[in-house]
Amino acid sequence: MHCPFCRNPDSRVIDSRTSDDGLSIRRRRQCPQCGKRFSTIETSSLNVIKRSGAVEPFSRDKVMAGVRKACQGRPVTDADLALLAQKVEEAVRQTGLSQIDANEIGLATLGPLRELDEVAYLRYASVYQAFESLEDFEAAIADLRADHAGRPGGDVPAEA
Ligand SMILES: [Zn+2]
Repeated sequence: MHCPFCRNPDSRVIDSRTSDDGLSIRRRRQCPQCGKRFSTIETSSLNVIKRSGAVEPFSRDKVMAGVRKACQGRPVTDADLALLAQKVEEAVRQTGLSQIDANEIGLATLGPLRELDEVAYLRYASVYQAFESLEDFEAAIADLRADHAGRPGGDVPAEA
C-alpha cells in the first residue's frame, strides 16, 4: 500500500478494525517515511462463475435484481431486498471461497427469501429449481406448511 502523501511503498499498520457487517477490515496505517497517517478498507475479493463460464465480481445489486422480479406485487421494500442481498453475501463469504458458482448464490438466496416472503420464495424457487409440475409446487408448499406447524404458537418473540 503506497503512502498517498509521499508515495513511499511501505506503510505500517497501527490499528485494524472489522466493519460492523464483518465483510471488510479498516486499517489505520502510518507511513514510516513522512509519518502521515491514512486508512484503508480491505475486502476480500469474491467472484462469481456464471453458467457461461465467465467470471465477474459478486454484486449485491445483481442478487437484488434477481429476486425483485419474484417479489412483484408483494409487500417487499428495497430495504428488505438490500438486507436479503447482504445476508446472501454473508452466507457466501462464510464458505471462505474466493470464487463461487452462480448456482451457489441461488441456493444461498432461497433461505433468506423464504423468511422474507413465502410467495416470492415459491416463485423464485419454481424458476431457480426448475419446478416442472404441480407436484413440485405441492411439495414446496407442504414443506412451508410443515415449517409453520413446527413454530411455537403464542410464544413468539416480540420482533416476530
Ligand atoms: Zn509518506
